[in-house]
Formats: sequence, C-alpha cells, structure tokens
Amino acid sequence: MTTRSIIMKKMDRGEADETVIFLSRERGWLTGIAKNSRKSRVRFGGHLEPFCLVDLAVRSRKKDNMVWIDESHMFQGFLRIRGNMKSLARVSYFFELAYVFLPEALPDPNVFDFLKNFLETLDSSNPGSIELLVSEIHLLGLLGFQPSFNCCPFCGQGFASNTEAYFSPLFGGAVHKECAEYEPSPHINMSPATLAALRHGLNSDSRLVGRIKLSRSAEQEIRESLSAFVRCLRGEDIKSLRFMESVGYL
Ligand SMILES: [Zn+2]
Repeated sequence: MTTRSIIMKKMDRGEADETVIFLSRERGWLTGIAKNSRKSRVRFGGHLEPFCLVDLAVRSRKKDNMVWIDESHMFQGFLRIRGNMKSLARVSYFFELAYVFLPEALPDPNVFDFLKNFLETLDSSNPGSIELLVSEIHLLGLLGFQPSFNCCPFCGQGFASNTEAYFSPLFGGAVHKECAEYEPSPHINMSPATLAALRHGLNSDSRLVGRIKLSRSAEQEIRESLSAFVRCLRGEDIKSLRFMESVGYL
C-alpha cells in the first residue's frame, strides 16, 4: 500500500539499508526498512530525511511488525525548517511528544494533519511564543492529554479574574492557590495575567493568537508548566525538550 507519511528519524542498518521511523496518516507510527537505500540513492532520492512529507509504498514483513519501504515520492521537504536549528528543535519536540504519547500502529489522522500543518507554518512564518505554546497545548489535547486552565480539579470552580493560581503537573491543570494545599506535589506559579493571556490564546482563532501580548514572565510560567506536565506524564525526560533547554531555545 502507499501511505502519506512524515519521516521522523533515519538510522543506518548494516552496510546498505536504512531503518526509518515515520508517521503514516493511515497507519500511525511505523518502523520501516529501506533496502539498499544507502547504495542506491536514486531510488529514494533523499526523501527519507527527517520531516519530509512523502508518499511511501510499504509492505508488511512476516517476521516482525516492521514494514519494507519499497518506494518513496516526495511532496514537501520543508527546507527552511531543516536549515534552522531552532525550528528543527521545535519540530523534533512536537514529533517526540506524538511519538511517546501515541501508541505504535494506531492511526490518528488528526495528529498527522496537525503536525503537517505545524511544519507548513514553521516553514513559511515565524510564530511567536504564544502561538508555539498554544500549539503545544492543542497537540497535547489531540494526544489525549489536554491540560486544563478553565476550572480547578479540586473544587470544580473556575478562575475569577485576579485569582492567583498554580499549575499542578500531577493534575494537569491550573488549581486555586488555596486548593493546592491539599496536593503536596510541586506546583508552578501562574499569575492572573498569565492565566488570562493563556485562556485568551486557547479560545482565539488560530490566525489571531499571534496578536496576544505575552510578557516574558508569563511565557516562562507557561513554559515551565508545560515542561513539568509532559515530564510528569511521561515519567521520564523528553530528550528534545532537554536539548532545547540546554541550548537556550525556550
Ligand atoms: Zn479550587
């Protein structure tokens, strides 16, 4: 079958072959083997590079749950992203989230389309921090882990303006400061302005999110909350996130 796919990763396999991890729109995450791809560049023509949007002709293998990749056809190479380390790191992070939170071979066209659109956006524009943070929250929602900023998980009440709140990584959402006393795990401060800006961003049309002003401290509070949340969900570190932190890309 031929399947619309985005390549995430490619590794050498023996002398001549390559192992490719990719997200198929129809089949979810798959690991494929491209036979002789290192010897015959003509056959795959550089289409198996990370974050290329391709059509792959794949066949099941009998001995394991991997597939053979017989042919590829390139649609978009996203060269601008691949030439920009910061964009590349951001895309790697989004793909790693999808990889760790979406079970293998479980198709999810919504996640696929979201990631494809994200690649197109990063390739053609320079989204600001609020747009990137809101996109990350939307992706987590599609993966089944939508953090909540509308009502406190302890008392079920919303957040009036000027309410001081915390973000609880364990509960995956904002909690009132007084309610947080019942939950001993570490919290991250969320000022009323941060919570208001973020909720505004989440409720806005995607084309208008970029107009929302986000202070540096609000950006840091949201960033810290999401980083703690995904690590809490995962139960271990997220490599691309640690990389972005270590080189100051966040
Ligand atoms: Zn509460």
